[in-house]
Amino acid sequence: MKNTENVERAADIVREALNLMRKYSVPMHPVNYAVWHAYASGDNLELRNAIDRYMLQHLTLDEAATEVLYRRHVIGNSADPALLQRMSERMSSALGQAVESAARAGDQTAAYGSSLSRFQDGLAGQALPGLEEILATTRQMQAAIQALQRQLGDSRQEIGQLRDELERVRQENLTDTLTGLPNRRAFEQRLAACMTLAASAGMNSHAPCLLMLDIDHFKRVNDSYGHGTGDQVLCTVAAALQAGTPDNALAARIGGEEFVMLLPAMQLQGARLVAEQLRQKIATLRTPARSKTGAELQVQVTVSIGLTSLQRGETGRQFIERADQALYQSKHGGRDRITVRMG
Ligand code: GH3
Ligand code: MG
Ligand code: MG
Repeated sequence: MKNTENVERAADIVREALNLMRKYSVPMHPVNYAVWHAYASGDNLELRNAIDRYMLQHLTLDEAATEVLYRRHVIGNSADPALLQRMSERMSSALGQAVESAARAGDQTAAYGSSLSRFQDGLAGQALPGLEEILATTRQMQAAIQALQRQLGDSRQEIGQLRDELERVRQENLTDTLTGLPNRRAFEQRLAACMTLAASAGMNSHAPCLLMLDIDHFKRVNDSYGHGTGDQVLCTVAAALQAGTPDNALAARIGGEEFVMLLPAMQLQGARLVAEQLRQKIATLRTPARSKTGAELQVQVTVSIGLTSLQRGETGRQFIERADQALYQSKHGGRDRITVRMG
């Protein structure tokens, strides 16, 4: 699509979204706008069908229902971040175009107003029927354009807020709430990107390594000191993992007491070193807790680790499964150790 067509389509979508919001008296705030913008764009068929079904029954879309649709169909779709990106870009380009048009109209009206004034001066006091009226209309036009410019400024601010809100929810959606580490979804997205890069750039220089970590006998921590202490231990391990993550690598919590670290373009040797440092570091950490009798104590845990590197032609699932098998070898071998598994 040509750029001008892009911009025109973007403007159409914004207009359509605003029209629908006016029609159904929907308050203008970011979540509502995001839902109706997605509806108007037609990019999200599930959302469109869900809204059509809902409107058929209820004739209006209240805040609570909008929130549910937003979480399910707009944010839920952010596994496809391209959709949010497109939305944001469309809004910005449509608004940018409107701001430019208003500025041009403002300049032209101002130029027109000053030529009229010069013309009036040139008449040197002779009356010309209708001239006063033309001047007055021109001033009204200028005032209307200034009002439009102010409105566009407000819209720009609103869209900025919407963007921030989308970004915040997108981040939230990729973050584990307990530990603050990236979550499984973030890991899957990064893995997919890594696999694409490896496939297009040739495996030798870009094969990623994967560490899979699982806390040893974690159930005992919960059983002995309670779930709250268990949570604290998870945070301690997560912080160590985050601190031990090299640049460009990603550490994530993918399950209860299971973590991964994805190391793009790293040789197995280097990844093994990262794993060994992590294993040793985690074993030195202590999480303060209380025993059932109230005595203060320190909880210590170890982790078992599986390590592998991506093989030519395999899928992400195969890659993860091999790291998982390596992890289970570590468990069966006695825990608190690393197993490297290739092929
Ligand atoms: P292994 O060494 O074989 O991994 O033994 P384990 O006890 O660590 O493994 P198991 O799978 O038997 O138990 C994992 C426990 O993790 C069970 C579950 O209650 C606990 N768990 C999962 N998620 C959380 C969480 O968010 N917080 C807390 N406190 N515990 C959790
Ligand atoms: Mg486990
Ligand atoms: Mg475990």
